[in-house]
Amino acid sequence: MALNQKRAQWYLQRFSSSLIESSGKFKVRLNDGAHFYPEFAYLCPLCLKSMFVYLPKEALLSWTNDFTLDHLPPESVGGRDTVLVCKDCNSKAGSNYDYSIKEFLKHDAVIKRKKNSKVNIKASFKGIPGSYNSGLSLTEKNELTFNVNTEKHPYIKGWLEEIKSNTNWELKATVTIPEIKLVYKALLKSAYLFCFSVWGYSFIYSSTGSKIRGVLNNSENHILENLGVFLSNSFELSANRLILIQNNSSYDGFVVNMTLLEKESNHKVMATILIPGNDSDSWENLSQFNPYLKDKVSLTFSGIEMIIDYKHPINQNSYQKDWEDIKKGNIKKR
Ligand SMILES: [Zn+2]
Repeated sequence: MALNQKRAQWYLQRFSSSLIESSGKFKVRLNDGAHFYPEFAYLCPLCLKSMFVYLPKEALLSWTNDFTLDHLPPESVGGRDTVLVCKDCNSKAGSNYDYSIKEFLKHDAVIKRKKNSKVNIKASFKGIPGSYNSGLSLTEKNELTFNVNTEKHPYIKGWLEEIKSNTNWELKATVTIPEIKLVYKALLKSAYLFCFSVWGYSFIYSSTGSKIRGVLNNSENHILENLGVFLSNSFELSANRLILIQNNSSYDGFVVNMTLLEKESNHKVMATILIPGNDSDSWENLSQFNPYLKDKVSLTFSGIEMIIDYKHPINQNSYQKDWEDIKKGNIKKR
């Protein structure tokens, strides 16, 4: 998608003042050299390299890379919120880890015996050479069915006919379970982009923001093995929201809640992703959650839902200012 001007301008209006306030050294020099119009720049929140600028004098939109809407969580699991990221970052995350959330949900739906759930398997049959890509699904009647494409695999067509009258047959199904670490990573990225959509570049340039970016590009380790991502089937809190944690008295921070949906089986999972506050020890303090991980307890958090204002430019509600207000006890529903 080449950038469309209307969309680009909405993003510029909302985010560019926070870019200037937060990045310090980021400046846009126009062709005439005399003026800066820093309010007309947008930087990809994932790589901080690709950008687009609007040059008001020339009424010209100019970019270093194409930008595309990234859904958080991914569209394949029902995500509706979007934010602009550069095409390279979008496709890299898509093929490296974003796809894994849907895979995870499909498997989870079968494990939880949801109707119309389905996973891909490799099937091999006793006495028949080779293995075949096929599907295993749970029907409306709660029956386990096995589907193999006989047009693709005509060789086993006859055999399948044969076993209708023969009960002595054996099928071995191999299921590839998605790597949970990739699921955590994809959800951490979604939560990071969610925080960007709330706090703009003040979050991106904070130490929390850069730590998370480091985890995403493998240059930094997360304090927690699950990258601060908790999955549950509890839906006490509304989805796709930023919550100030209040029930864990020993820990101060935020969580981003996201509902994940597997569309075919209508299977839902709540993902809760921890986002530390802005204090110098907030990141290290995440280690307080380690005991929960050892005991494999699924955690739910309650707190104050932060109302997010999407209509106006981000300049007042920076991540640092919100954090200061919260510590002073000025917690406000925005
Ligand atoms: Zn990028």
